[in-house]
Amino acid sequence: MRTPFNPNKFPNRDSLSRFCPRLPVSSFWWSFLPIATATLAVISLLKLGVCQALEVLTYQGLFLLQEPIHLQSWLWIVLLFVGIGSGGMLQRLRFRDQLSVLLLLCLGWGLLSLTLVPYGVKIPVVTPILLFGLSGGMVALAEVVRTYLLLRQSEERYALAVRGSSEGLWDWNLRTDRVYFSPRWKEMLGYLEHQLSDSPQEWLSRVHPADLELLKVAIADHLRGNTSHFENEHRLLHQNGTHRWMLSRGLAVRNREGKAERMVGSQTDITSRKQTEEELWRSAFFDKLTNLPNRPGFINYLRQAITRIQHPPMTVFAVLWLDLDRFKVVNNSLGSAIGDRLLIAVSQRLRAFLSSDDVTARMGGDEFAVLLDQVQDANDAIRMAERVQQVLALPFNMDGREVFLTVSIGIALSSTHYTDPEHLLRDADTAMHRAKAHGRARCQVFDKAMRTRMVVKLLLENDLRRAIAQEAYDKTHELQLYYQPIVRLVTRQVVGFEALVRWQHPEQGILSPTKFISMAEETGLIIPLSWWVLRAACRQMRQWLQAFPNQPFLTINVNLSTQQFSMSGLTEYICQILEETELDGTNLKLEMTESMVMENAAAIVAVLHQLRSFGIQLAIDDFGTGYSSLSYLARFPINTLKIDRSFVRNIGISSDSLEIVRTILALAHNLGMDVTAEGVETPEQANQLLGMHCEYGQGYFFAQPLDADAATNFLEQQK
Ligand code: C2E
Ligand code: MG
Ligand code: MG
Repeated sequence: MRTPFNPNKFPNRDSLSRFCPRLPVSSFWWSFLPIATATLAVISLLKLGVCQALEVLTYQGLFLLQEPIHLQSWLWIVLLFVGIGSGGMLQRLRFRDQLSVLLLLCLGWGLLSLTLVPYGVKIPVVTPILLFGLSGGMVALAEVVRTYLLLRQSEERYALAVRGSSEGLWDWNLRTDRVYFSPRWKEMLGYLEHQLSDSPQEWLSRVHPADLELLKVAIADHLRGNTSHFENEHRLLHQNGTHRWMLSRGLAVRNREGKAERMVGSQTDITSRKQTEEELWRSAFFDKLTNLPNRPGFINYLRQAITRIQHPPMTVFAVLWLDLDRFKVVNNSLGSAIGDRLLIAVSQRLRAFLSSDDVTARMGGDEFAVLLDQVQDANDAIRMAERVQQVLALPFNMDGREVFLTVSIGIALSSTHYTDPEHLLRDADTAMHRAKAHGRARCQVFDKAMRTRMVVKLLLENDLRRAIAQEAYDKTHELQLYYQPIVRLVTRQVVGFEALVRWQHPEQGILSPTKFISMAEETGLIIPLSWWVLRAACRQMRQWLQAFPNQPFLTINVNLSTQQFSMSGLTEYICQILEETELDGTNLKLEMTESMVMENAAAIVAVLHQLRSFGIQLAIDDFGTGYSSLSYLARFPINTLKIDRSFVRNIGISSDSLEIVRTILALAHNLGMDVTAEGVETPEQANQLLGMHCEYGQGYFFAQPLDADAATNFLEQQK
């Protein structure tokens, strides 16, 4: 691996030639020093005389001297060792130190000769000093050449780096106020070398106005010495009129007093990095479809709003949680592409209607949220919410088709001193659900009672979870099935039962499904609950079929939930339960509500046909209360329409109800379906229905929902 160049490290000959092999680094300069010192040593030897020196070193030096050696010889010996020693040492020293040593040697020698004169000792002075001086001169010359070579080399390297670098370079001479911009710097802005001058304005005048102030502050800070280096990201105007993001980094060159005289730096184009950052930021905090802030983005705004109102003048803000009513129907009937366009249109309408201080966000699906920046009180917020409803109630034009929307709105006001944005959202959402529960297209302000209700609901949810789990382990039997007979109106003979779930709550007593089914649907508990119901109902029907073999056509009606339809493998699971309980498919009738079927029409038509292929019968429950597409109704393999009890209840009172029942009957018969009237409470109703050729009836007039034993007795009586 190559050793990176380190300007602080003294390079030796090898490293120098490796860095720049083309440069003529003569070995002469680097060998000169040892040669010079060796010469010094050789001269000393010659002067002393080789024989004498050997004698001194080997014989006289080792044994006691018989005769004193001449002082001059001693001095030459000293000189010899000093020469060899300093030659070896000097090699390792820096240039400055080499010179110092040689100078010291010159001075020391001169001083020594002067000191010895009074004693009558004469030592050679000129020759050694000349030699030391000459060595020093040579060392200095070597240093000059070395520096020159290094400089050339570093300049070449710098030029190569500048040419090869993707960064632009700038060098600002603060004394002359001129800037050298490298060709690459200019090219980054779409200019040729000669097209830009060396004025600082070439840079500063191109900085985006929003970034200029910060850039100036960063430069000034660094020049004042407040920062260790200068670094700033800003947009620069490109020749093509667009702005490019640049990262500029630099360092001031200071004089002895610390005053900056130059600032040198580089510039990197970071536009694509900024774009990626921006995309990441957008995808994290903005909704792709509508370009509105998403939930995390909205929470950021809420957090700011909460902080703002902590300080005077304290104002109130409101959060509106909007949910489009029946959006799913639009999505399923017109297709998700139109659904998406509708959501975009809603977002545009909201943005156009609300002030720029208000924030509109998409919280997911068909839910939006609005932060009303300043409201007086709850009434003010309600007024705004109603206006939003009016604005969204105007028809949307989708490919020449007018689509109407209504919206339910929940409102939470900041005046109740929230500190967590999530709590505000939670309460606005709770209020929205309350608005939905009261009927759609309403708005509702959150109050504490709603939270209490939520807590109660949560507790109930936990209890239901436990009750379902216990059923699975056959422990306590809090969940029970009741069976309500369905009779043929002509003969009053029972043809089947509808299985209706009851919950024997340990504290609250028997709970009707209306109390917990919607909660189970919201929480997903409906899935395990529904499978339990289906299994128990099928098992019971199998027992009845065995006990009453003369009634082989009895059916057990089981209510299906929407969520069961959205799970994959529905048919397989139902078939598995039929197999487990040994019940024939023809003895099972599944009840689905109109909305359940119509909202998923395209998706479930195949499932319905599959179920029918196993002999399973299908009924539409509470018919007349929802919205039905007649074309779909004709395509679905439905056996029975169950007329909702709200019509049956009124057939003796309201001619409208009577007509509706008559129409449903005609429709069903035309489509080859039979009809069950729900909620028959009086003999008059039963007779009227019979008169209109309604096949079956179900209601308190015939029997209430009965527990298993009572239902068995009911069948017994039929015998
Ligand atoms: P549904 O399927 O329409 O069931 C008929 C409801 O009408 C039952 O209420 C029944 O007790 C009631 N009913 C029957 N005859 C009369 C009558 O003459 N007059 C009046 N006023 N009401 C009558 P229930 O048992 O409270 O069930 C209410 C709803 O709960 C059911 O309506 C059904 O939608 C749902 N449900 C009940 N059990 C289940 C279940 O096991 N699974 C699912 N997914 N939903 C269920
Ligand atoms: Mg039903
Ligand atoms: Mg019903």
